[in-house]
Amino acid sequence: MILTHGAAAAVRPCLSSLLLTRHLSFSNPFSSISVDSRSRYNGSRPILTLASPPHSISSVQKGDQVVASLEQPEIIFIGTGTSEGIPRVSCLTDPIKKCVVCSKAVEPGNKNKRLNTSILIRFPKPSSGVCNILIDAGKFFYQSALHWFPTYGIRTIDAVVITHSHADAIGGLDDLRDWTNNVQPHIPIYVAERDFEVMKKTHYYLVDTSVVTPGAAVSELQFDIIHEKPFIVHDLKFTPLPVWHGRNYRSLGFRFGNVCYISDVSEIPDETYPLLRDCDILIMDALRPDRSSSTHFGLPQALEEVRKIKPKRTLFTGMMHLMDHEKVNEGLLKLMETEGLDVQLSYDGLRVPINL
Ligand SMILES: [Zn+2]
Ligand SMILES: [Zn+2]
Repeated sequence: MILTHGAAAAVRPCLSSLLLTRHLSFSNPFSSISVDSRSRYNGSRPILTLASPPHSISSVQKGDQVVASLEQPEIIFIGTGTSEGIPRVSCLTDPIKKCVVCSKAVEPGNKNKRLNTSILIRFPKPSSGVCNILIDAGKFFYQSALHWFPTYGIRTIDAVVITHSHADAIGGLDDLRDWTNNVQPHIPIYVAERDFEVMKKTHYYLVDTSVVTPGAAVSELQFDIIHEKPFIVHDLKFTPLPVWHGRNYRSLGFRFGNVCYISDVSEIPDETYPLLRDCDILIMDALRPDRSSSTHFGLPQALEEVRKIKPKRTLFTGMMHLMDHEKVNEGLLKLMETEGLDVQLSYDGLRVPINL
């Protein structure tokens, strides 16, 4: 089904209240709070690591159903790495050279393990539980969801907003079949026209389900075409942040509340900067430690942009295997002392409270 944006978006209920069943229980990842070292410089807004406060997600009995509830809006980093993922298989099989970062990334819980960039925005909806809006579902979406959805008690996907049509942003659309077959009837996908044109080729059977063999069950997606102007998803306003992601290739960042998310960018056009003003949290592309590529910011350029945009806090994403989590973050911490810049690398599973 294809909808022109605005036709039905605002009236869709979040599904979490309707669909969680009694047997759903949240296994306990929330037993303690741990705060990483950057909080030494900013005690008021610590980064919460995997273990988070026990009160932040809970379940409430409503009649026959268990309804998820959430006290404060938050984002969860579903993935923070490049298209091929970290560790790289080629690094692990290299007989000559040992890749330090990829070797570390194999260890359970290591923050250098990164799958395709994606975040989940979660916010409470009065009387209807929790709304879960995903930005991008790339090639590794299944592996990411397999890990983080049970960990954080996430059940429904109430919408997916697409930044661009590269495989690490849309390669997981097929995996959404598990949700639309077993959790909820359909998922709305908010996508720019140019990227929808790509999906007509890459995911033709999801765009036109009449071609599917009778009896086969594929993802039930509703495509909402967005333009480079604000749109509403479940009462949350998204402002597209158009950027260049390589020469003549457009990608969209999104602003929601005072959070700006730009996962794939090589150049920010002049007209986009005003949309980034007064940003509390900037999440931005930083591919490698030394230089930019033709399609992504490297760390030096990303830091220049941070100085220009002046967000209160920045979390980088989309890091390749040359970015050693601890090492780079240690260097970034020094910028707090020297310039007052609050910048860190994000990591898969990071959960950050936000205000919407
Ligand atoms: Zn490597
Ligand atoms: Zn891309």
